[in-house]
Amino acid sequence: MFVFKAAVVGAGTMGGEIAQAIAAAEIPVVLKDIDQKFVDAGLDKAREVTQGQLGRLVKKEKLTQAQADEQLEVVMGRITGTTDYSDFGDVDFVIEAAPEKMEIKQAVFAELDAVTPGHAILASNTSSLSIAEMADATLRPHKVVGFHFFYPASVMPLVEIVAGVTDEETIEAAVNFAQTIRKQPIVCEEVPGFVVNRILNSAVGEIWRAQEEQGLSIKKIDEAVGAQNVAPMGPFFLVDLLGLDTVFHVAEHLNESYGDSFYVHQGMKKLVSEGKLGAKSGGSGFYENGEPQIEGDAEPNGEELAELMSLKAIVEACLVLEEGVSTVREIDLGMMAGAGMDPRRGIFPPFTKADLTGLDVILEKLEAAEEKHGERFAPPVTLRRLVAQGRLGQKAGQGFYAYPQADEGDQTETVKLETRGDVAIAWLANGMMNAVSPQVVKDLGTVWEKVKSSGDIGAMVIASANPLVFSAGADIKAFTQMDEAGGEDLIHSGHALLRDLGQSRVSTIAAVNSLAFGGGCEVSMACDFRIAAESAIFGQPEIKLGIIPGFGGTQRLPRLVGAHKALEMNLIGDAITAHDALEHGLVNRVVPDHELFDTAVAWARKLAGQAPLAVEKIKQVSHKGDLDEGIEAEKQGFADVFRTEDGKEGISAFLGKRKAQWKGQ
Ligand code: NAD
Repeated sequence: MFVFKAAVVGAGTMGGEIAQAIAAAEIPVVLKDIDQKFVDAGLDKAREVTQGQLGRLVKKEKLTQAQADEQLEVVMGRITGTTDYSDFGDVDFVIEAAPEKMEIKQAVFAELDAVTPGHAILASNTSSLSIAEMADATLRPHKVVGFHFFYPASVMPLVEIVAGVTDEETIEAAVNFAQTIRKQPIVCEEVPGFVVNRILNSAVGEIWRAQEEQGLSIKKIDEAVGAQNVAPMGPFFLVDLLGLDTVFHVAEHLNESYGDSFYVHQGMKKLVSEGKLGAKSGGSGFYENGEPQIEGDAEPNGEELAELMSLKAIVEACLVLEEGVSTVREIDLGMMAGAGMDPRRGIFPPFTKADLTGLDVILEKLEAAEEKHGERFAPPVTLRRLVAQGRLGQKAGQGFYAYPQADEGDQTETVKLETRGDVAIAWLANGMMNAVSPQVVKDLGTVWEKVKSSGDIGAMVIASANPLVFSAGADIKAFTQMDEAGGEDLIHSGHALLRDLGQSRVSTIAAVNSLAFGGGCEVSMACDFRIAAESAIFGQPEIKLGIIPGFGGTQRLPRLVGAHKALEMNLIGDAITAHDALEHGLVNRVVPDHELFDTAVAWARKLAGQAPLAVEKIKQVSHKGDLDEGIEAEKQGFADVFRTEDGKEGISAFLGKRKAQWKGQ
């Protein structure tokens, strides 16, 4: 599943820009359409986008104009425009971006099946059609996958990777390919609207409904809602940019699929029938020369509309979650990367927003909204369940995500210690990437010593304080800035710490919430157990930097997944999904994202109650040398533990049918 050469079929609005994204990532790509004039238009678009990107680098003085000119030709040189399939015999990944009609898609897929090698992945950029149905037209249905970009593809970072009857290897390859072309992938099942269009339409539909029912002014809505930090711009203004026909077709499709909970704006329908499609039709759409083309001048209540939109977004996001379409983290990431909900601008995606507001508050508001507007606002089961558990969001330390509630008193800079009875949580809190920097190694060491010396902590969870990243890897830059002696020291102390995690009487559990690469993956492997969220991904990408794993990746990985899989991961460097990690033994359990922390803490509570000396001995003698050496170590360990007070207490409690009291002696 390696992509040396790609192809894009259909060089229209999307195709040209998709080919450009691939070429810019240094992968040769064939761009095919049915007529040379469409191919040329696609190539022109790719050139225009590349020029824009390089121009920005020139402006920032990262490139000279001459270098940019040269680079432009290099990128364009990687795109081959064509009207036939003669260049498809050696492609590895094809993205179909032909018109949104099943007959066309199926015809294209049948052709692609015949002209591409059997290993090639056939992907579709469809916004709404069934991937499984397209796959039916091929002899490789498991290698057919949705690969849904957002308009404009050169700007929007999101790609929804949609599973039809797709196998795990293809999903993984698609995730890795999306990352290679510098896009943010999220994985989802095939349902109408997938994740982002479904949630967005459900939410914006409430504004469309209010506008038509109350005769509100669209201009005032755009101004009022735009100012409320729920969307990057006013909803009608946005539709003018996207194209009224595109948005209308999606809205109608969702209404047909899910019913009246999805509103179709009748004014938009009329504008589309008149050919007024917004920016693409010369500027006439909801607005013409800045003037609204929809009747209604009533004053909207911006706050109320924004709230309605947010509430509907959380309801739909929960339904997407409950139907098993996608995960908490991926749904939020999708809304960030595909719908412009940027926390840096104060615009939060649905689950994050709910956690920040308080899930009890959201529940109350939904109950009121249900009473006022009907059952489309009915509070989802997941929300009720979390509230019943006291998982009220950030203020409670847990909601859809988990949040550190660090102990009072001294804390280190990058690792926060939280104690809950006999369980400790070490929260990795080192910024956006949560990189394993020299400071993190030092701070984790400090926290670990505190935990071990406390005497009454039996298990420690290592969790990430960053909902989006477990740890992206070692902070390579910081490591390279150290002098030789300092670097050596750090490697030694880092290894000693990680080794101790796996040998101490305190059990260790990594709660891997998302991306765990390089040093992050290695820290998790040094723990006794790894519990992974469904959306977690693992990898040892050091090879891509020409280096090798330095915190045990070549040693612990083969012990967990076997020599062959470990060699594959270390030599190829690509990521694997949580499900794949489970299959190969890298993780002990995979659980829904929002249940990760509870599960990890439950494991910690169970382990904290085990006999500490026996825990320590089992950890120390497991995997000891070869089998003979290991059995010798086990024999010795058994004799040691059998003679201890805990050993006697355990046996006597068992015989006496009572609970043992461990002393650690
Ligand atoms: P488009 O009409 O602009 O382009 C489609 C291109 O495909 C045209 O150039 C057409 O000539 C070509 N084509 C038709 N039949 C073909 C064939 N048999 N082989 C090769 N090329 C063929 O459409 P678009 O907006 O680029 O959309 C393409 C796909 O992307 C659709 O599935 C659409 O749902 C999806 N999509 C569109 C957007 C958007 O905003 N436009 C966003 C996300 C996804």
